[in-house]
Amino acid sequence: MPDSRPDRIYLDYNATTPLLAAARDAILAALDGGFGNPSSKHWAGRAAHTVLAEARAAVARLAGAEPEQVIFTSGATEAIHQVLRSQRCSRLVCSAIEHPAVFGAAEGDRREVSLVMPANRGPVEVEAVLEVVDGGPPPALVCVMAANNETGILNPVGELVAPLRERGVPLMVDASQYAGKLEIDFAPDYMIIAAHKLGGPKGVGAVVVHPEAPPLVSLFDGGGQEGGKRSGTEPMPAIAGFGAAAAWSVAQLPGLSARYAALRDRLEAGLQAALPGSFVLGAGARRLPNTSSFVLPEGVESEAVMGHLNRAGVAVSAGSACHSGSVTPSRVLLASGLTAAESFRALRLSLGHATTEDEIDRVLDLLPAAARRVAR
Ligand code: PLP
Repeated sequence: MPDSRPDRIYLDYNATTPLLAAARDAILAALDGGFGNPSSKHWAGRAAHTVLAEARAAVARLAGAEPEQVIFTSGATEAIHQVLRSQRCSRLVCSAIEHPAVFGAAEGDRREVSLVMPANRGPVEVEAVLEVVDGGPPPALVCVMAANNETGILNPVGELVAPLRERGVPLMVDASQYAGKLEIDFAPDYMIIAAHKLGGPKGVGAVVVHPEAPPLVSLFDGGGQEGGKRSGTEPMPAIAGFGAAAAWSVAQLPGLSARYAALRDRLEAGLQAALPGSFVLGAGARRLPNTSSFVLPEGVESEAVMGHLNRAGVAVSAGSACHSGSVTPSRVLLASGLTAAESFRALRLSLGHATTEDEIDRVLDLLPAAARRVAR
C-alpha cells in the first residue's frame, strides 16, 4: 500500500506512482554512502560512477538499448525539450494527443506543427502519419507517443520506424507511460522515459538516442556531463532510484502486464455491469494493461464522482492530472473521439504495482454508489 491508512486506495498511477521499495533502498544507499561526484577520479567519485553506470545499464535494458544511448535528464519534460530544440528545421509532425510538454516546447520555439488525428476511439495510424509527413515540406521530426496517458491507447510506433528512416525523418517516441507496463520492442531515434511513472523518484528521466539519430544538442553549457549532452552534476540518489525501478520492471515484466490486465478487466466488467450506459474509451483498441478511461452514464459528471471517491479515500483522475479542476474538455479525449459531454463524464482509473484485488473490489462498491449519488 502506498499509504499506511488502510482505507486509502490509489488508482492514479498514470499521474505518478508510489516509490518501489527497491528504488527507495537504492536512493537511501546513494544518500548515505555514495556522496561522491561521479566525475571525480578518486575513490568517492569511482564509487558514484559505478552506481551511475549500473543505473544507466538498467535503464538501457528497460529501453532495449545500449548504455551509451542513455542520457539522464530531470524528467520527460526536459528530455522532450532537448529533442525538439536539437532539430534545425521548423516543421514538426505531432500526433494531436501528445503530452503538453511537446506542444509547449514547439510553441516556445515558434515551430510550425502539423497535427495527426488519431482514429476514432483508436490509435494514431501509420498511414495517417505518413500522409501528413509527405503532404508538406520534409519535417524536422515526427512525435508520436507510445501510449497515451489519459486513454492508455497504444500507438503502432514500431511500425513507424522503417518508413520514417527511409524518408530521413527522425522519430521521437514518448514512452513515459509505456515503460514499466509493457516490454519495449521499438527503437525510434529518440525515446523518452520518466522514472516516476514506473516506481522511481520524481525529477529524473532519460532520453534514449539511437546510434543513427541526429545528435542531440545540450540545453545547458557547463561541465559536459552525460557525454557533453547534459551538463550539470548528476542527481545520484534520483538516478540510483531510477535504475532500481528500471531493473525491477525488467525483472517483473511480462507477468506484471498480465496482472495489471486481469485487475483492469475485473474493474471494467464490474463497473459496466453496475452502471448501464457506461463504456470504456478505446475498448476495441490495443491499450495499456493498467489504464481505463471509463465514461460514466449520462447525467453523471466525473469531477463530482471524483470528489466523492476522494472523500471515501479513493484517488482517481478526471482526464489527466493537468486537466483536473479545469472547466474545458480534455483536448486528448476530444481528439480521441469523445463528445464534449462524454469527456466531462470520463474518469481515468490507472492501476499499478501496489494495486490489489481487494482494492478493486472495494472500488466496485464505492464507485457505482458515488455515481448514483451525483446522478442528475
Ligand atoms: N509525457 C507523458 C506521456 C506523461 O504522462 C508525462 C507526465 O505527466 C510527461 C510526459 C511529463 O513527465 P514529467 O512531468 O516527469 O516531466
